Amino acid sequence: MLSQQIAPLIVLRGGRVLDPSQGLDETADVVIEAGRIKNVGRDAGAAYEAGEEVRIIDAAGLWVCPGFIDLHVHLREPGQEYKEDIRSGLEAAAAGGFTAVCPMPNTQPTNDTRAITEMMVARALEHGGTRLLPFGAVTKGQRGAELTEMADLRDAGAIGVSDDGLCVMNAAVMRHAMEYARTFDLLVSQHCEDHDLTAGAQMHEGARSTQLGLRGWPRAAEDIIVARDLILAEMTGARYHVAHISSLGAVRLIREAKSRGLRVSAEVTPHHLLFTDEALLSYDTYCKVNPPLREQADLEALREALADGTIDCIATDHAPHTDLEKDCEFEAASVGIDGLESAIGGMLGLVREGVLTPLRFVEALSAAPARLIPDFEGGSLREGRRADVTVLDPAAQWILDEEALRSKSHNTPLLGRELTGRPVMTVVGGRVVHELGT
Ligand SMILES: [Zn+2]
Repeated sequence: MLSQQIAPLIVLRGGRVLDPSQGLDETADVVIEAGRIKNVGRDAGAAYEAGEEVRIIDAAGLWVCPGFIDLHVHLREPGQEYKEDIRSGLEAAAAGGFTAVCPMPNTQPTNDTRAITEMMVARALEHGGTRLLPFGAVTKGQRGAELTEMADLRDAGAIGVSDDGLCVMNAAVMRHAMEYARTFDLLVSQHCEDHDLTAGAQMHEGARSTQLGLRGWPRAAEDIIVARDLILAEMTGARYHVAHISSLGAVRLIREAKSRGLRVSAEVTPHHLLFTDEALLSYDTYCKVNPPLREQADLEALREALADGTIDCIATDHAPHTDLEKDCEFEAASVGIDGLESAIGGMLGLVREGVLTPLRFVEALSAAPARLIPDFEGGSLREGRRADVTVLDPAAQWILDEEALRSKSHNTPLLGRELTGRPVMTVVGGRVVHELGT
């Protein structure tokens, strides 16, 4: 259990309040009482005095945002707790500024039943920090054939379904999954990869894979599944979501589908926004990820689409692995990047470069993912809302140091790099679950 108690009242004074749900970008106070947003406004907190019952925090120079939500993480419990577990994963999430995270079901065993979903939710509640909103599997054992009992999964707390790590390859299965999920308003998140086209692939297929002599993962393998699924989403009316979009072709398809009013959405990871396959020229296994890092044209298309809202949100695809699985030959290395604690520091550069406005950056991490989660009271600082709040210092200079990471793993190409900007306080339901320096 976390030791922090609920302070009856927290006053964040004079911060830059960025709340995309209200189009708010102004200097203001945020008052949190009994776990909820009491009010937001210039000098709203002026009347309070610090004391046992009231904590006053000088937020001058800081950004005060609705709590960040990560729609795509791997916390490895049950089954691979040596890489990460729910507790370490939620601590990493809190340290990274996230007030809610959505773990994917590719655990061991697969999260394809009510019992496993309930166990994960209970474990998180016992920890008492960042909220855990799990995805259940689309198919039993993620084998791509038989659908899970989605009603049970939803009743146990699942917010969506996905076979992430694997693609639902069979079109008939995907159609029935969408029809079934629609009944329960569950989000269907697809890992878009035609596995026949990526057999044995180690990296993006292009000039660099040829140069390195590694088998390639062509964009077409992603685009084909996105195109097929959009047709099925239109047919079924399901809420369809593209996980970790990486190719410029997939962006084009989503843009076209949205222009016709389809209920589709997409997320992009920090690493696909920051790196290209050039990072693999040194055979850096920390950059081996699925879908793979692609080319400059893809990176630019992803940035543009995130800025204009074609891509709804940023999700880390936090995929912890130990040294054993990464300090080895490239072809033997596991895929994935540890992302929760480096996401904000890594991506604030996009704001400084003018790729994203501060408000859009915050929206892609809060209001946008919140909209995709059924009945979720988050992503907003409106008065009366549950007080999930992320406070960050956009100017803090720091080094992503292995020793300081809360995650059990540290497989990220940002390790050891100097970053600018970081979360300094994470508040969940009015409780401080992370504070820098404590
Ligand atoms: Zn995936």
